[in-house]
Parts: sequence; C-alpha cells; structure tokens
Amino acid sequence: MKRPVVDMADCVDCDTCLELCPEVFRRNDLGGIQVADLSQYPEEQIEEVIKNCPGDCIHWEQG
Ligand code: SF4
Repeated sequence: MKRPVVDMADCVDCDTCLELCPEVFRRNDLGGIQVADLSQYPEEQIEEVIKNCPGDCIHWEQG
C-alpha cells in the first residue's frame, strides 16, 4: 500500500494540504503536518494536494 509522506524540512506551512484534504493531513502538537493512519488513501485527492503544495514536499512511499 502506498501512503503520502511529508518532508517537513521543505514545508512552508501554507495549510493547503489541510484545506484540500483534512481527512488525511492534520497539524500535530508540534505544529508539523501529520498524515493520518488510514487503510487506504484517496489517491486523486492527494495527487491534487501534491500538485498544489508550494514546498513540493509531499510524496508517495510504498508501505
Ligand atoms: S501543502 Fe505542503 S507546504 Fe503547505 S502545509 Fe502542506 S506540506 Fe506544508
């Protein structure tokens, strides 16, 4: 299964992922972006987030 991963080093805190796909991307207690643990991820929606992430810091990882 593939899951989205956020590289926080390049994140510019724009909140786009939180707005476009709140069921997957959340802000954790430390202020970083966290990916929810899901058995399946909405692929098209996440592709849209990846396209719109200004930090270019979200990518897929094979789990
Ligand atoms: S869309 Fe990208 S740059 Fe913006 S908050 Fe999410 S991970 Fe960070």
